[in-house]
Amino acid sequence: MAARTRQDSLQIYRPSMGEVYRRRFQLVTQFRQAIEQGRIVVHYQPKIGLADRQLIGVEALVRWMHPEFGLVSPAEFVEAIEATGSIDILLEHVLDTVLRQLAEWAAQGVRIAAAVNLSVRNLMAVGFPGKVNDALRKHGVDPALLTFEITESSVMEDPEHSLPVLNRLHALGVGLSVDDFGTGYSSLAYLRRLPIDEIKIDRSFVMSMGSDLGDLAIVRAIVDLGHSLGLRVVAEGVEEEAARDALRDMHCDQAQGYLISRPLPLDRFEAWLASRTVTIYDPDSSVHVLR
Ligand code: C2E
Ligand code: MG
Ligand code: MG
Ligand code: MG
Repeated sequence: MAARTRQDSLQIYRPSMGEVYRRRFQLVTQFRQAIEQGRIVVHYQPKIGLADRQLIGVEALVRWMHPEFGLVSPAEFVEAIEATGSIDILLEHVLDTVLRQLAEWAAQGVRIAAAVNLSVRNLMAVGFPGKVNDALRKHGVDPALLTFEITESSVMEDPEHSLPVLNRLHALGVGLSVDDFGTGYSSLAYLRRLPIDEIKIDRSFVMSMGSDLGDLAIVRAIVDLGHSLGLRVVAEGVEEEAARDALRDMHCDQAQGYLISRPLPLDRFEAWLASRTVTIYDPDSSVHVLR
């Protein structure tokens, strides 16, 4: 009887398999039209330096404003479109949007860097580094302002193919970051051979480092490992002041998370920036100091 009740409640609270497939099918088939209709939007989440709390840049995180499902997370639809060619259209759209924005900020004297997430399909697409170069030239953006985030597992899936592509991207002058670090199973010997600049500690460790000594130890070990390899270390999922301060004391370089700000649509990010920063104008560079 108890088991039966549990089964009944599962049916009430969980979408049926049919519904999951229907939704997934709709996301896949409607994606191109959604791009054309401007429903795939980029939100910006700030990253700050832990030593001085200065704004360093933003991570571009995509969202789908779906007429039926509401705001759909990339965690759901990126995976769904990955098996189709649409993942290339997504990257083209995000890259174009972000580079146009960086150029606009630069024209206003605001030097902000941006990170764009790559799926393994994007990385392996024929001619990808050339397209990145074209996009940078089209918008006249300094390659040093752009970083690509790739997950540990996507690089390790096919290292013999990803390594030359990463080398070509690196030669363009764009930054490379390993996302969700600590959740995959990368060989440290291999990590050392990658032309990367940064690792991002997976948010699962950062979010629980205040309550779980094991996770705290993992975070500390990743910071030390990253620094030993000459890499910049970023913590994502920073939700509490105590975590931010502990990370600063460990000399972790940068932080990103709800404590600083959630990912915001462009207008709200610009309002956040205006209210939180004092821009000191200098003809060569402008400095943003977080209040
Ligand atoms: P990610 O690259 O690891 O991005 C960080 C995720 O953590 C984002 O989820 C962000 O909203 C969330 N986050 C940031 N700070 C906090 C925090 O303090 N607490 C909590 N609980 N979460 C936090 P989001 O935006 O749902 O994106 C999920 C994933 O989707 C991203 O993980 C990334 O792998 C993928 N993604 C996002 N945009 C794109 C894109 O343009 N292309 C591709 N291929 N993947 C994307
Ligand atoms: Mg990321
Ligand atoms: Mg991540
Ligand atoms: Mg992720």
